[in-house]
Amino acid sequence: MKTAISGREKSIVKKGNKKKEILCDSDSLSGSVSQRACVYCGARVVLNPITDALHIVHGPIGCASYTWDIRGSLSSGDELYRNSFSTDLKEKDVIFGGGKKLSLAIDELVQIYNPALIFIYATCIVGVIGDDLQAIAKAAEKKHGIKVIPVESSGFIGNKSAGYRAACDSLLKLIAPEKPLETIPGSINLLGDFNLAGETWIVRKYIEAIGLHFHTAFTGDSSSETLKTATGASLNLVQCAGSMVYLANKMEEIYKIPFIRISFLGIEDTIGSLQTIASWSGDQLIQEKTDQLITDQLDGIEKEMKQYRTMFTGKKAAVYVGGGFKAISLIKQFRDLGIEVVMIGTQTGSKDDYRQIESLVGEGTVVVDDTNPAELERFIKQKGADLLVGGVKERPLAYKLGIAFIDHNHDRKHPLVGFEGAINFAKEVSWTLNSPVWEFV
Ligand code: SF4
Repeated sequence: MKTAISGREKSIVKKGNKKKEILCDSDSLSGSVSQRACVYCGARVVLNPITDALHIVHGPIGCASYTWDIRGSLSSGDELYRNSFSTDLKEKDVIFGGGKKLSLAIDELVQIYNPALIFIYATCIVGVIGDDLQAIAKAAEKKHGIKVIPVESSGFIGNKSAGYRAACDSLLKLIAPEKPLETIPGSINLLGDFNLAGETWIVRKYIEAIGLHFHTAFTGDSSSETLKTATGASLNLVQCAGSMVYLANKMEEIYKIPFIRISFLGIEDTIGSLQTIASWSGDQLIQEKTDQLITDQLDGIEKEMKQYRTMFTGKKAAVYVGGGFKAISLIKQFRDLGIEVVMIGTQTGSKDDYRQIESLVGEGTVVVDDTNPAELERFIKQKGADLLVGGVKERPLAYKLGIAFIDHNHDRKHPLVGFEGAINFAKEVSWTLNSPVWEFV
């Protein structure tokens, strides 16, 4: 396919006339101005929602400000995670090393905040000057008697997925029990849910309503204490596969906890996920409770959903999100609302995700991996999309093009999971498509 930037041809396919599989899960092309976040940002967004953790960004102040409070993750307890601390490295530190500054920062922060857990993030410059974060963290653990975990997340070591893996490696260090924990039957961890606008609480409510035990989430509304009990669960559910399949695989390998990929985005996937969990339990009563929950929830939203469906017929959507599973759910969610997805892409989708995406979209749909503003603009115009679903970096692009926008990323304030999330999503589509502002474009 002809592209605006040469070298990107393999990362773009059009359903119906592709010869090869899409190129994905690879480093961004130099100079293509990727919409992807860096390794450090990938690690930070995974670990940030741990409510009692103190996050020290070892690097220039810009790295810390870039990721300060970018997730709308809610807490039922501690609020320490809402802060961002930086060692604010300057030229002198780059020349003489920033290790001493980091040790002093840890001492000062422990004195002020008395945290249970500290994460130290390596940024680009730290990878270049080679400060020994492992040794500094070890010394700090000994001195203060708390967990201090270095996160190997220098921005240039790979793409955002490398940051997810760095975060998962740090989580593995945190959850490793001193002696094996007893498995609690029917207890479930939820991986890849960050409690954006309280979404973990919605899934938790469903799990408990069908008679299972909700153990802990990775990492929405979690704490160092809840995460340390994670290896006692009997099942891991993986919602955001891009960020957490790596951890789920490791937990299966080390702690023999099986995992299932689920998605609570949209009615179809919410029902499918609940049924999958119920059938994993093999318990007749749980199956019955699940059926009842689905019936009750559908009854509660059906009338409102019907109204929205009639409103959107004939509309076209473009989607550019972080992970493959979210993209797959969005295609089904739009189909349920009568909206056709005409362009779709992800930052970190796998080959498997793209196979599923292509099987779900219609002929002629443009599928892109790790795209950039020039391509987004071109395909949105070419395909005549009426709205774009994306995150904080895509919003200005949609508004400049004069089309509606749905925020499906970290900083939103309304939950989009489950049955109530499906209504919120439809409501937002309606608000943005019908906004009077488009009369002035
Ligand atoms: S880690 Fe590197 S790429 Fe990431 S924000 Fe800092 S300087 Fe930028």
